[in-house]
Amino acid sequence: MVYDPKSRKAEEFINHEEILQSLEYAKSNKGNKELIEGILDKANRAKGLTHREAAVLLECEDEELIERIFKMAEDIKKRFYGNRIVMFAPLYLSNYCVNGCVYCPYHLKNKKIARKKLTQEEIKREVIALQDLGHKRLALEAGEDPKNNPIEYILESIDTIYSIKHKNGAIRRVNVNIAATTIENYKKLKDAGIGTYILFQETYNKESYEMLHPTGPKHDYNYHTEAHDRAMEAGIDDVGLGVLYGLSTYKYELVGILMHAEHLEAAFGVGPHTISVPRLRPADDIDVSEFPEALSDEIFQKIVAIIRLAVPYTGMIVSTRESQKTREKVLHLGVSQISGASSTSVGGYADRAEGVKEEITSAQFDVDDDRTLDEVVNWLLDMNYIPSFCTACYREGRTGDRFMALCKNGQIANCCQPNAIMTLKEYLEDYASESTKESGENLIKKEVKKIPKDKVREIVEERLIKIANGERDFR
Ligand code: SAM
Repeated sequence: MVYDPKSRKAEEFINHEEILQSLEYAKSNKGNKELIEGILDKANRAKGLTHREAAVLLECEDEELIERIFKMAEDIKKRFYGNRIVMFAPLYLSNYCVNGCVYCPYHLKNKKIARKKLTQEEIKREVIALQDLGHKRLALEAGEDPKNNPIEYILESIDTIYSIKHKNGAIRRVNVNIAATTIENYKKLKDAGIGTYILFQETYNKESYEMLHPTGPKHDYNYHTEAHDRAMEAGIDDVGLGVLYGLSTYKYELVGILMHAEHLEAAFGVGPHTISVPRLRPADDIDVSEFPEALSDEIFQKIVAIIRLAVPYTGMIVSTRESQKTREKVLHLGVSQISGASSTSVGGYADRAEGVKEEITSAQFDVDDDRTLDEVVNWLLDMNYIPSFCTACYREGRTGDRFMALCKNGQIANCCQPNAIMTLKEYLEDYASESTKESGENLIKKEVKKIPKDKVREIVEERLIKIANGERDFR
C-alpha cells in the first residue's frame, strides 16, 4: 500500500509500512551527526519537521543532544506563543457508552460505574459552578451512545451552555470531544458554534487499535481515523489530534500523529489546531499495570519537545492527568493549553461546589493535579506565564488557516498577548484570591510595557481601567 499524505484513506495517510520504515531509518541514522545537525537547524528556523526527521530525534539518547532539543523547543514556544497559557476545563455530559474500549471505565461491560447523563437543568448547574471558578472555555466530553447521547442531545447542551450568563461569567468557547461521527453531524456541530473538534486517535497502530477497541462503533479504525477529514469537510476548520500514551509503543505513535498532521495540511491546507498528549491513568475497573507501554516522565518530555519542533504553530494541550511537577516541565517544553480544577465526573463541578460526594464514582479517570483554579493561576503567574482566558480568535472568525497566519506572521505579541492580559485582568477582578490578584497585577504591569505597537498598548491600558470599573468582554 502506498503512503500518500493527500489521500483520504486512513491506511494511506497513516501507512503502517511507512511508519516502520521511518523507525528503521531513525535507528540507522542514530549516530549520523550531519543529518541530526541539519534537522536541528531546520527546527530552529521554525520550518517544522517531517515524521521521519522527528523519528530521528526521538531515537537520540545522547544527553547533550536531548538538552539542545529541550532548549530549542522552549525557544520556539516563546517565539510563537509568548508566555501565554490558555486555560480550559472539561465538562462531562454523559458517561453512557456502547463501546468496549479496554482502557476506559465507560466501557459497556463496566457495571460498577455510576451511569449518569446530565439534564439541561443539571448542565446549567455545572456551567454556573464552572463560571464561578472563572472558566470561559470548555471541552465537552461524552461517551458514545446513539440512544442516550444522540447528536441532538449534544447540540441542545451546547445551546444551553452558551445561553447561561451568570454574574460576570459566560462560557465563550465550547470545544467538543465526542466520538467520530458523520459529515452531517459535524455540520450541525459547526452550526452550533463549536470551537475545536477534538478526537484522540488513542493509537495509530491498527492492530493494537482493534484489540483495544474490541466492540462497538469505535472498533472501526478507518472510520475513526478519517473523522477529522469529515469534520473539516463539514466546515470545522479547527480540529485537535491526540494519542493516549501508554496504550501502544510511543515511537510508532509519534510518527503516526505527525503523519496525521502532515495529511491534514496536505489535504486541507491547514494542520491540526491542537495536539493533546494524554497519558493513561488509573480508573474504575482499569488496572494500568496491565498496559506494559507506560511512558517514563523523561520520554514524555522528549515527546512534547519533539512535537513542539515538528509542528511549531500547533497548540499543545496537557490535562490534569499529569502532576503539577510534570505539567511544569512540559509547559516549558512547548505546551500552550492546560486544564485546571478539572472534574472527570458527570455533574462533578456542582457537586464539588455544594460539598456533595459521589457514593459510586462516575469519573473517567483519576486526575493527578487536583489543585483549585486559583492555585493553578497563581502557580502560572509565579513562573511568569500569563494564564489566558481568551477566546477572541474563534469569536472573530480567526480559525483554521487564518489563525495559523497570525501565528506565522509573528502577530501574537500584538494580538494574543493583549487579549491574554485583558482576560487575565477580568479573572483577577472577578475570581482571584488576594495573593493571586497581587501577583497578577504585577505581571500585567510588566507585560503591558512589552506590547510592541504604541497604539495597541494604549488601547490595552484604557481597557484595563474599564475592566477595573466593571466593563467586560472587549472584542
Ligand atoms: N467517546 C469519545 C471518543 O470515543 O473519542 C470521547 C472520549 S473520552 C470522554 C476522552 C478521552 O479520554 C478518550 O479519547 C481517551 O483517550 C481518554 N481516556 C479514556 N480512558 C482513559 C484513562 N483510563 N486514562 C486517561 N485517559 C483516558
